[in-house]
Amino acid sequence: MKHFSILLTVFVFMAINAVAQTERPSLPDQAQLEKMIARFAPTPLKVDTSKLSPGDRAALGKMIQAARLLNDVFLKQLWRGNTALYAELQKDTSPLGKARLHYFWMNKGPWSDIDEFGAFIPGVPPRKPEGANFYPEDMTKADFEKWVATLPAAEQEQAKGFFSVLRWQDAKAKTLKAIPYSEEYKAELTRSAALLQDAAGLTTNESLKKFLSLRAAAFLSNNYYESDMAWMDLDAPLDITIGPYETYNDELFGYKAGFEAYVNLRDDAESAKLEAFAKHLQEVETNLPIDPKYRNPKLGAAAPIRVVDEILSTGDAAHGVQTAAYNLPNDDRVVQKKGSKRVMLKNVQEAKFESVLIPIAKHTLAKSQLADVKFEPFFTHILAHELMHGLGPHEIKVAGRSTTPREEIKGLYGAIEEAKADVTGLFALQYMMDHAKEMNLSGVLATGDQAERQLYTTFLASAFRSLRFGLNDAHGKGMAVQFNYLSDHGAFVQQADGTFVVDLTKIKQAVKDLDHDLLTIEAEGNYEGAKKLLDEMGIIRPALKKVLDGMQDIPTDVEPIFVTANEISPQ
Ligand code: ZN
Repeated sequence: MKHFSILLTVFVFMAINAVAQTERPSLPDQAQLEKMIARFAPTPLKVDTSKLSPGDRAALGKMIQAARLLNDVFLKQLWRGNTALYAELQKDTSPLGKARLHYFWMNKGPWSDIDEFGAFIPGVPPRKPEGANFYPEDMTKADFEKWVATLPAAEQEQAKGFFSVLRWQDAKAKTLKAIPYSEEYKAELTRSAALLQDAAGLTTNESLKKFLSLRAAAFLSNNYYESDMAWMDLDAPLDITIGPYETYNDELFGYKAGFEAYVNLRDDAESAKLEAFAKHLQEVETNLPIDPKYRNPKLGAAAPIRVVDEILSTGDAAHGVQTAAYNLPNDDRVVQKKGSKRVMLKNVQEAKFESVLIPIAKHTLAKSQLADVKFEPFFTHILAHELMHGLGPHEIKVAGRSTTPREEIKGLYGAIEEAKADVTGLFALQYMMDHAKEMNLSGVLATGDQAERQLYTTFLASAFRSLRFGLNDAHGKGMAVQFNYLSDHGAFVQQADGTFVVDLTKIKQAVKDLDHDLLTIEAEGNYEGAKKLLDEMGIIRPALKKVLDGMQDIPTDVEPIFVTANEISPQ
């Protein structure tokens, strides 16, 4: 699963702007289209593949070709008219035609992802069909539910499953039939499977070989279970995620998976850093700023995290706002047996940092602070954030009952937990910096005054980026709490010219105090406490609103240009 809630609020955010600027529903002209495109800063993704073995390098070329075929599949999945429209657009060489083709490719369809899927090309439905092309366009939710209720259990499961499309059996009688992906997309999947088999024959890594052959077989058999299990065990210099995964494009039911691929190179330095941090999680837990009775004396095994650089993304992974990290698989049978794995796309995060965060920092921070906004502490804090989701209270007792913070805090849990992961991440990094020598972390973690200044200043800049997502998003709401709390405690200070600075004499204690409050709310399953904190602090105050309003010209995201993929396997 992606952090999709972020995307949703970006839609809302941009949609509000779009409505404010243009009351009319007419299609964008060339100038408007170019403005829409410019919200995504073009960014070359270059990855150094020179250390790959010759076998892996040859396999990489095949993997890139296999991945590209999923663009064709995804175009079909999104809309039944998509493939023909794409061919049409390619013939139009006028400037307007070129802009349409460009933005079509960025969205993998004629609807703008970040403008609530509004159409930007004539002759298409005004908005993306809710069921995409997974169901007949004239099928209603009720049609499906009525029909599915008549089926035996096994067929119901197939109809509602990830890997089939529905078509009319008899449109008049409103009866449907489920067609497996392996049939619906047979031509593309057969070619893609053959390329994956070729890659399996070329790579020297056993876990990759196994995943590639099993996934190739799954493309033809429509049975993805074994290959999902093999993906969990995949640990190779070349890291690939390829297949039908996320169900966000099925807005009717959320049943049907879109085809996508990420072809990645493992980042060994960051992996070593993660491994080093993971060794000390228990010590951090044992020193969390909460009542010792709430600390977990024995942490369970942490979920695996891989840090990679993206060489190519395709299909569902390559439209609209770019994915910075993902958690897979989504098949509960696999998750129950093997858990899930988080993959973090470091170079995509770096691209976003350069194109979005640096301009935000220039807009919001005092000039004297800009030199301390760095990618290294930005990414290290993201790693810490992910690890910290595993620390703190998870199994709690309320009035003698065994329960969880999520159950007790209900709809407010997301914002509290995201704020907790951020603040505990700062606490943990400070703790590890303070004890780097004893913990043997000096090789992977920068320490000293400059490193501390960079950590907190970069965090302040990234706070504005999260706040831009709005308060409907758990991260945005959680960040509002942190921003206001740290401001009220003198750690973030707005100067006369409107820019912000960090007060390094106050931030460490303020972080500890806020962490104490968040962790205690979770430990006590305190819904009322969560509500009070979010009501008072999870808001955008006028001074902050003014700053955020001034950021509209800063890009929303990046448009990746797959330089390395195109070098290795020219299109
Ligand atoms: Zn999180």
